[in-house]
Amino acid sequence: MWRLTDEQRELRDTIRTFAQDVVRPAMLDVDERSPYPRELHDAMAAQGLLGLAVPAAYGGRGATSVAYCAFIEELARVSGTASLMAAYVKLTTLPIVLAGSEEQKERFLPGLADGSKLGSYAISEPRVGSDPAALQMTAECHGDTWVLNGTKRFIGNAGLSDLYVVFARTGDENAKGVSAFVVPGDADGLSVEVLPTMGMPGWRLGAPTFSDVEVPAANLLGRAGEGFKIAMQTFDASRPTVAAQAVGLGQGAVDLALDYARRRVTFGKPLIEHQGMQFKLARLEAQVAAARALAYQAATFVDERDPRMTKLSAAAKLMASDVAMEATTEAVQVLGGNGYLKEFPAERMMRDAKVLQIYEGANEIQLLVIARQMSIEAEKRGVIWTEAVQAEGRTEPAPSEEVGARA
Ligand SMILES: Cc1cc2nc3c(=O)[nH]c(=O)nc-3n(C[C@H](O)[C@H](O)[C@H](O)COP(=O)(O)OP(=O)(O)OC[C@H]3O[C@@H](n4cnc5c(N)ncnc54)[C@H](O)[C@@H]3O)c2cc1C
Repeated sequence: MWRLTDEQRELRDTIRTFAQDVVRPAMLDVDERSPYPRELHDAMAAQGLLGLAVPAAYGGRGATSVAYCAFIEELARVSGTASLMAAYVKLTTLPIVLAGSEEQKERFLPGLADGSKLGSYAISEPRVGSDPAALQMTAECHGDTWVLNGTKRFIGNAGLSDLYVVFARTGDENAKGVSAFVVPGDADGLSVEVLPTMGMPGWRLGAPTFSDVEVPAANLLGRAGEGFKIAMQTFDASRPTVAAQAVGLGQGAVDLALDYARRRVTFGKPLIEHQGMQFKLARLEAQVAAARALAYQAATFVDERDPRMTKLSAAAKLMASDVAMEATTEAVQVLGGNGYLKEFPAERMMRDAKVLQIYEGANEIQLLVIARQMSIEAEKRGVIWTEAVQAEGRTEPAPSEEVGARA
């Protein structure tokens, strides 16, 4: 069972204060300020927060996934964009932490951890998102140099990044033909189209194109052909963070709705005294609490390298993002007309929540991941002796062809 340690609780409380005192005021007018909020980035860096998940040996603080979830949840409670700015550091550093050589870790991680450098994680392409094993961008080996060609799409920090972790095709086989590279942001042949978004205002999204971009062999992460595995391991470890973002956004929305319902009077009494409103908010509070339990349990599995983490990380991301979408949409409803105004944060929370159901694998893909893991588990478990089978009078387990799920 997950439980915050005293140290983690202390960290969470510090971040809660930082989020209220620094993040909230800095992000009040975020919709009007489209450039990346660099000053907030710098403020988080100054507190040593951006490199929280990076191992201490490379300039970070080596926080556990559980502690990291607490950090991201607190940020998301006040600002989806701030939580994404922070969480994206983990997404970008994870492939290097998981697959980089000692030399690569020393070269790339400290700058990302201390916030002096920005990174990007680039796997999605114009024609390939949910099925990254089919990605089309190519990397060809010419002696000591790899030459990259192709376009990525929906890439965070694009155009601002000092380095991109890029997944490209180095062989014909689907998943086994993908490799991961670190590409410098100032590489010749790299250009970026900026993509305006619905939510997460201030966050930079873009489509980088790589035209004969050369990177040294020393920038290949792991071995050629290991890129897909690196990408999937990254998602396993990173999805609880998305779930924590969702929990924070959901809780922030419930808190806002409750606050409003206590003050707004209809039919002669505060909204919150109408039972229909109490039930609505109580159900949302329960849903957020359930999502939180799942998110932190998945993070615990990541910390313990429990093989169940793939399934639970996907489940946490799926459930928590759906809860965040529902809670933020309901918060708009509770605020009535005011919910629709930019003057109140409810509509921004709703716009921010939507992308949690889409990035790091859309929720339909989380269902595929969960179903695949269930099949693997069932295969290992073997046939379960059911009453139905007994009722047929069998004395032996059913042959496998009669058990549809095992076929
Ligand atoms: C704000 C934002 C930030 C992002 N940041 C990054 C980033 O930094 N780096 C990066 O690499 N990518 C990033 N992404 C991309 C994101 O991960 C993809 O958009 C996502 O994986 C979905 O891929 P797609 O858009 O190509 O949708 P598609 O793959 O075209 O899917 C479209 C829809 O069909 C559904 N679908 C697909 N296949 C199936 C199936 N077999 N069964 C049922 N339904 C299916 C999907 O779930 C989805 O709802 C970001 C996206 C957004 C919006």
